[in-house]
Amino acid sequence: MTIQQVDLVVIGGGINGAGVARDAAGRGLSVLLAERHDYAGATSSNSSKLIHGGLRYLETFELGLVREALREREVMLRIAPHITEPIRFLLPIGADAPRPTWMLRLGLWLYDMLAGHRQLQGSGRLSAREVTELPHLRSDRYHTVLHYPDVLTDDARLVLETLLDARSRGADVRNYCEVKSVHPETNGYKVTLCDAEGTWSARTRYLVNAAGPWTNHVRKWISDNEPGYDLRLVRGSHIVLPMPRPALVDAITLQRQDGRVVFLLPWLERFLIVGTTEVPQDDPDDEIVCTEAERDYLLAAANEVLDLAAGTDAVTWSWSGVRPLVDDESEEVSKTSRGSMLDVTPNGRGGCVTIYGGKITTYRRLAERVMDSLAGLGADMTGAWTADAPLYNGGLTRDALSRLAEDCSQVPRRIAHRWAFTYGDATRDLMQRVSEDPALGREVADGVPLVELEHAWSAEDARCATDFLERRTKLRLILTESDRELVARWFADRANVST
Ligand SMILES: Cc1cc2nc3c(=O)[nH]c(=O)nc-3n(C[C@H](O)[C@H](O)[C@H](O)COP(=O)(O)OP(=O)(O)OC[C@H]3O[C@@H](n4cnc5c(N)ncnc54)[C@H](O)[C@@H]3O)c2cc1C
Repeated sequence: MTIQQVDLVVIGGGINGAGVARDAAGRGLSVLLAERHDYAGATSSNSSKLIHGGLRYLETFELGLVREALREREVMLRIAPHITEPIRFLLPIGADAPRPTWMLRLGLWLYDMLAGHRQLQGSGRLSAREVTELPHLRSDRYHTVLHYPDVLTDDARLVLETLLDARSRGADVRNYCEVKSVHPETNGYKVTLCDAEGTWSARTRYLVNAAGPWTNHVRKWISDNEPGYDLRLVRGSHIVLPMPRPALVDAITLQRQDGRVVFLLPWLERFLIVGTTEVPQDDPDDEIVCTEAERDYLLAAANEVLDLAAGTDAVTWSWSGVRPLVDDESEEVSKTSRGSMLDVTPNGRGGCVTIYGGKITTYRRLAERVMDSLAGLGADMTGAWTADAPLYNGGLTRDALSRLAEDCSQVPRRIAHRWAFTYGDATRDLMQRVSEDPALGREVADGVPLVELEHAWSAEDARCATDFLERRTKLRLILTESDRELVARWFADRANVST
């Protein structure tokens, strides 16, 4: 059995593990990150895909969290333009709204203030004419429509590109590699891992436990004491509906009578995401799916605000994730804090940092705090650097990416456009490879050139059709079943070639 020696092992390839691996690698630590399934395969690809301040957290007076999240919204727009899209949210207010207009206006004013200097426009109120011009809104139900900006992202690609960035700075980043056990040693830990090549070990002085919903499972290996914090696991589901025509361009924040908030988000130009629910989940290893009750709740919400008359047969797809929230003993699940906590366990001249909670939006700041904790444990590293460094593939602005797609002659425009806002800078490389070898432009499935599958396999570690169709891209929603099968067959053949 080989034993690898590193400064830091990160357990978990969701957004938090990815952020830590990138930051630590950029500060000169040797890093090994292990994700037992695919990158972002758990919570981090099943979110609402918002980089947002979290307007409703103002209600629980989490001003610090909202402020930090709004500042991070600015950072993310700067460092990952290809996968961050500003979007206007409409907030319709009816006679029976659970919160009065003045309170919502005050909340939006505060939201603007906390955002500070910003690239996005502030909040406001639509005129009566603007309201009647909105497609599908049941405007007779609402006397006022406010609006505010936030940002839509591709959560799975955000994780992936953070990890690719870490790898480009020397980190050893692996998917389908499970940490089987951790044994504390005199000044660090021995970590046993298992992947397609078998079982092997790594010795490390520092450990970061970023196992999301499984955090306390991992923590038991590190300390026999009580868990650092109790987790409250809360499932959230989303459904996807076809985009009605004429298409909606704005997102909608719907306040429901039960006090909850449901988002409707235009997605990929063809779909509408409706989410989310908040249902206690006992065990993260139980099946995590959208139940019929959750689906019906979300359908009712969509039909309440829009004239869709959508039935269950309109539901094109659904997904669910489990929020690993720190249990603050709030009576209502929706009032449980979305903040994060770090639990630090020293071990000789090494130690472990366990991450509890957090949000996709604030993952970069969380990673900085983890670095501070590692420095407190004695890790020797350079200073903070991630606020201004473009993320992997994030060097081109959205305008530059549009021009790149427009000028593309190697593949059809619709493919070039999809590539640009999926792969960012790497689009140039894909185009260049087709120029050099036109055979790579052959479409294995409709709109999926061979070069893209090769790229997903060799540069992005996709190992099966689901990795590619659901996380590297969102083609799962766009391709026909027979095209999805062609992609699956390609991955099966590619795996045989590699073994
Ligand atoms: C429904 C929903 C909507 C949300 N919407 C938003 C939103 O719009 N904006 C926002 O900012 N946040 C949102 N969040 C919150 C955000 O998604 C989560 O806080 C975040 O994804 C948690 O990331 P993580 O890395 O801690 O956990 P995860 O993404 O779950 O990653 C943990 C990883 O650890 C791996 N792992 C566990 N044990 C081992 C082991 N032994 N060896 C190797 N790997 C292991 C798991 O396989 C998993 O991939 C939402 C969450 C949910 C559930």
